[in-house]
Amino acid sequence: MGSSCGRGCWEWASRLRRLTGFSRLLSTAALAPQICVVGSGPAGFYTAQHLLKHHRLAQVDIYEKLPVPFGLVRFGVAPDHPEVKNVINTFTQTAHSDRCSYYGNVTIGKDVTVKELQRAYHAVVLSYGAEDNRILGIPGENLSGVYSARAFVGWYNGLPENRDKTDITEGSLAAIACSKVKRVWLVGRRGPLQVAFTIKELREMINLPGTRPLLDPADFTGLGDVIKDVPRPRKRLTELMVKSALEKPGEREASRWASATKEWGLKFRCSPLEVLPAADGKQARGIRMAVTRLEGSGESARAVPTGEVEELECGLILSSIGYRSLPLDSSIPFDSKLGIIPNSLGRVQGAPGLYCSGWVKRGPTGVIITTMNDSFDTAQSVLEDLQSGLLKLSNSKEGFKSVRSILHSRGVHPVTFSDWEKIDAAEVARGKLAGKPREKLVDPREMLQLIGH
Ligand SMILES: Cc1cc2nc3c(=O)[nH]c(=O)nc-3n(C[C@H](O)[C@H](O)[C@H](O)COP(=O)(O)OP(=O)(O)OC[C@H]3O[C@@H](n4cnc5c(N)ncnc54)[C@H](O)[C@@H]3O)c2cc1C
Repeated sequence: MGSSCGRGCWEWASRLRRLTGFSRLLSTAALAPQICVVGSGPAGFYTAQHLLKHHRLAQVDIYEKLPVPFGLVRFGVAPDHPEVKNVINTFTQTAHSDRCSYYGNVTIGKDVTVKELQRAYHAVVLSYGAEDNRILGIPGENLSGVYSARAFVGWYNGLPENRDKTDITEGSLAAIACSKVKRVWLVGRRGPLQVAFTIKELREMINLPGTRPLLDPADFTGLGDVIKDVPRPRKRLTELMVKSALEKPGEREASRWASATKEWGLKFRCSPLEVLPAADGKQARGIRMAVTRLEGSGESARAVPTGEVEELECGLILSSIGYRSLPLDSSIPFDSKLGIIPNSLGRVQGAPGLYCSGWVKRGPTGVIITTMNDSFDTAQSVLEDLQSGLLKLSNSKEGFKSVRSILHSRGVHPVTFSDWEKIDAAEVARGKLAGKPREKLVDPREMLQLIGH
């Protein structure tokens, strides 16, 4: 380069370099999508994981209404299934990404609206599960001794809203240990070919120490022929029921069943009509049920009352007829009949930039793996919409910065993931004293105190 260009050219070039560097920085910032996820259960964490993995700039903020994360992995999955809870390790890795933030103790729809989130983020993914339970809708359902299975599970798992039922969770263990329950009936409106439990669950029940199964051979006779053409998982499940009901048990099993002090049984083709009150008019003493017959066959068979009625004496009735999602606020499309957010591949219908995953997307069925696949699909839809320009990154969004000022103005103090890790450490330390993996804190006030909120 000639000297005439010399210093001037060099200055010009270096200014250009600074400018292009700056503009590259600007465009990088502008290109970083700000995404938030509502709910920190499997759906929330798997959606975040997929987004972070497949978009190298995405910033994902997870909002959770409880101070503690992981949804039903913490409050649903049974305590004797610790291996299922290992997914928490994967979720923790996601939370440790420097492009992921967790904000617990923030209830969307109350502390911040979805509209406010939409103003702060390029995309909002609703993954808030199905927290309500379906009710039987029969007389006597409010009597003492009738509970939803959801409340029962929440109680022994230390869910804060269910903690007042008794001392939790050491307390629930003690209560269960001195339980006088001798027999449990699982009642279903339809037949053995329509049961909704899995073969793993059935196997666990059959092998439950100190108990024997009560299966009426009449319910299973002839089923062997009917199941030849049904899908393999249902076939194997039915075969196990048929075997347990009709075949002579082996020597070990026979002796275990003979010495069992408790029983559980399956009662088919019965539909609850009324919870019967005890003499005091307050406590449940039993349940009246309509005997049904099946119309149609397979999964779609319908239970139709025969006109016959059966009564079952029992002191405790747990209704386990499914969970239900509720709308977060009236501005969000919601199908109240199906109890889900109407969507196509996770894109909320008629609401660009709004997505859903997990149980609120497809209804409260399926296990964690099902939820994982479904959440990856939703995250994929978000990525495609970023790629196609449907989500406009040129509209700069402030993400948590603007939500923080909203929360501050409303006196809400979010719990960060490192705050949760302090709660976690305290629980593990308490558990150690009791010889358990953890003793959960069940009072949100205690959790918040522990982290200095
Ligand atoms: C009793 C029970 C036992 C189960 N056991 C197993 C098992 O052993 N193995 C298995 O694979 N699957 C099991 N499952 C299924 C599994 O738990 C679900 O597939 C999965 O949890 C659904 O994930 P989700 O994220 O959609 O919902 P959830 O896990 O319910 O997560 C939703 C999250 O959203 C939060 N939230 C709700 N409302 C708001 C709001 N307004 N603002 C912010 N956050 C909010 C909730 O607090 C929660 O943390 C079980 C389910 C139940 C009910």
